[in-house]
Amino acid sequence: MFSYRHAFHAGNHADVFKHTVLIATLQHLLQKDAALTVLDTHAGAGLYRLDGDYASTSGEAADGIQRLLAPGVPTPLAPALQDYVDMVRAFNQGPSTRVYPGSPFIAQRLLREHDRLKLFELHPTDARALAGNIAQLEAGRQVAVLAEDGFEGVKKFLPPPARRALVLCDPSYEIKSDYGRVQDLLQDALKRFATGVYAVWYPIIARPEAHDLPRRLKTLANKAGKPWLHATLTVKSSKQTTPERRPGLPASGMFLINPPFTLEAALRQALPQMAELLAQDRHAAHGLESGS
Ligand code: SAM
Repeated sequence: MFSYRHAFHAGNHADVFKHTVLIATLQHLLQKDAALTVLDTHAGAGLYRLDGDYASTSGEAADGIQRLLAPGVPTPLAPALQDYVDMVRAFNQGPSTRVYPGSPFIAQRLLREHDRLKLFELHPTDARALAGNIAQLEAGRQVAVLAEDGFEGVKKFLPPPARRALVLCDPSYEIKSDYGRVQDLLQDALKRFATGVYAVWYPIIARPEAHDLPRRLKTLANKAGKPWLHATLTVKSSKQTTPERRPGLPASGMFLINPPFTLEAALRQALPQMAELLAQDRHAAHGLESGS
């Protein structure tokens, strides 16, 4: 079925970026007492070993989270980036970082007892791993693991009971149709629940669908009259200039509809630092734009 396994990529530059945005968004939303529902449409396995076979093979965390933990990194970092580093450290005892929390574990750690977390994961192996990892938390009704299609499954939870939700949509984009499905999901979700906070991650790669996605989401948000925020992080040129250079994802973006009003300022501080610390060549850069 699917060949994408997030374990190969856990803690890479895209995770640093995505999880920094996730934490900053949740921290803002959790300032209000009313219950929050977090819907993670593509959850992955939840927890990853950075010293395990998958991560060691790819070595992607070395150019991601491990760079932020290296000696000589300025402390404190920009607040949003520091919060992210502190979150990863909280899953590790001692000086080395062996465990990396995926979006389900990051969200669960921040949520309060009365909040709800719904996790969708379609890959049978990852869904089993996720269910096993979550079971150890003994979180009871707070967390539900659903081994189903997140694009469809999320609909039944919108709108949520207390009318407060964050939807994280983080597909692997292994199938070209994922780009269109993200757009369809947001279009449908905004009709069901116009005030939800929607956060989409996407890869910036040489593929027309990837290029078009943020443009389409912008149009969608503008037509719905909803504020949006678009952030990008580039760590290297998209062209492989020398044969010895490792291929891999050069850049990624996050598009949010109804973002917390504090997020833009937080990213304005954190993104330049991310680009500098995660740079793999002189093409490293960041972007931030918003609309309302
Ligand atoms: N959100 C996770 C995190 O930040 O830790 C990483 C998710 S990973 C990029 C994408 C995951 O989506 C993979 O584990 C893949 O198996 C799963 N997946 C692919 N298609 C899916 C679908 N239609 N519904 C739910 N999960 C899907």
